[in-house]
Amino acid sequence: MSMEKGLNDQLNMEFQAAYLYLGMAAYVETLNLPGFAHWMQEQAKEEVGHAMRFYSFITDRGMSVTLKGIEAAPTTYSSLTEVFESALENEKAVTQSIHDLYRLADTEGDFGAHPLLEEFAVEQLEEEKSVTYVLDALRRIGEDGTGLFLLDRDLSQRQPEA
Ligand code: FE
Repeated sequence: MSMEKGLNDQLNMEFQAAYLYLGMAAYVETLNLPGFAHWMQEQAKEEVGHAMRFYSFITDRGMSVTLKGIEAAPTTYSSLTEVFESALENEKAVTQSIHDLYRLADTEGDFGAHPLLEEFAVEQLEEEKSVTYVLDALRRIGEDGTGLFLLDRDLSQRQPEA
């Protein structure tokens, strides 16, 4: 695979992740959990930001952007735990994809792509950590009562990415 294709696939995957999180936001809205909804909306925006980083990287280097289709994302889930399990699964897939792209850059001798991909590899550690935090909290407190009320408040405090 060429780096051009690999970078474009990653661009698509980031938009796909944004769509996934937006669907999760829509689901938690139906549960009347504004903190969770805020957190998911911020996460979706962050993913669009990631996609745009790849977009700029591709265009800055004189390569061609291709915009593949974005698949439908679910807007219903059976529980909050399922939402965050699904989010974690997706983040792990993204981490794997970034690692594969790093390896591809190595094979292709495209060492100029390494700083960006290293940054994203570190970013993925942060993503997996923050999703795992919420997932563990949900498992600890259950999905109702005071615990959920307080977790929703906690998640409402998330600041937009600098
Ligand atoms: Fe991302």
